[in-house]
Amino acid sequence: MPNKFKKTKILDIEFINTTNDAFLTQIATDSMAHINRFIVTANPEIVLFARQHPDYKKILTQADYVTPDGIGIIKGAAILGTPMPERITGYDTLMSLLEWANSHQKSIYLVGAAEMVIQKVAKTIKSDYPNINLVGFHNGYFKNDQDIVSNIKISQPDFVFVATGFPNQEEFIQRNRQVSDSIWMGVGGSFDVLAGTVNRAPQFWQNHHIEWLYRLFQEPTRFIRMLAIPRYLLLIYKEKFRGHKKKN
Ligand code: UDP
Repeated sequence: MPNKFKKTKILDIEFINTTNDAFLTQIATDSMAHINRFIVTANPEIVLFARQHPDYKKILTQADYVTPDGIGIIKGAAILGTPMPERITGYDTLMSLLEWANSHQKSIYLVGAAEMVIQKVAKTIKSDYPNINLVGFHNGYFKNDQDIVSNIKISQPDFVFVATGFPNQEEFIQRNRQVSDSIWMGVGGSFDVLAGTVNRAPQFWQNHHIEWLYRLFQEPTRFIRMLAIPRYLLLIYKEKFRGHKKKN
């Protein structure tokens, strides 16, 4: 990982400890220099998954920037005595990068979500970000990477956004990022939000750190996934306790 940012370890995953503004400035610099970068926006669920899946954990160590997505990471950092200033989420970062790409006439490639969703996203980008060169897109339900990757290789986009959910999107990026010196980022369910198929929590819910609850109301099937949070917090407290013991 580049050394520019201070790093903070949460349950053995190394996060960048910085603000959205500083991070976006860095990505703009990287993009201008055509540096190959891999961004992971990680929440507690991802941290737990990485603990149980060494191959996935290895992918995270090879990413250039792992950002704190989800209030659980910010809370965990505070509990461990290594606070981080704010969340750097996949959706917000995607929106900021689209703005930036539009004002700098950059090119992008999109992979992920259902066919209807990606079609809608492509349409939205063409109308709302007219200076972005959308060089290609593909839905997230494919059998092998080959066609998509050769398109990316030919078009050499400035950004590749992959929205197939974790761990799939990070595995895809790790497998293929060498074909183009782009900024590669996994953006989870962001295309569904961009297309309007899923609503993002209104600002009130976001400000009060209960965005996860809003999401749960929208998609009750997420309940099982959300059981990860208490498990995660338990591990954080265990880690904190261990740290204290070491110090004494
Ligand atoms: N998805 C996909 N291909 C798959 C499985 C999922 O493109 O094989 C898409 C799905 O349509 C959705 C996104 O990946 O748009 C996953 O969203 P989710 O909110 O689960 O991702 P998270 O942000 O939680 O990782």
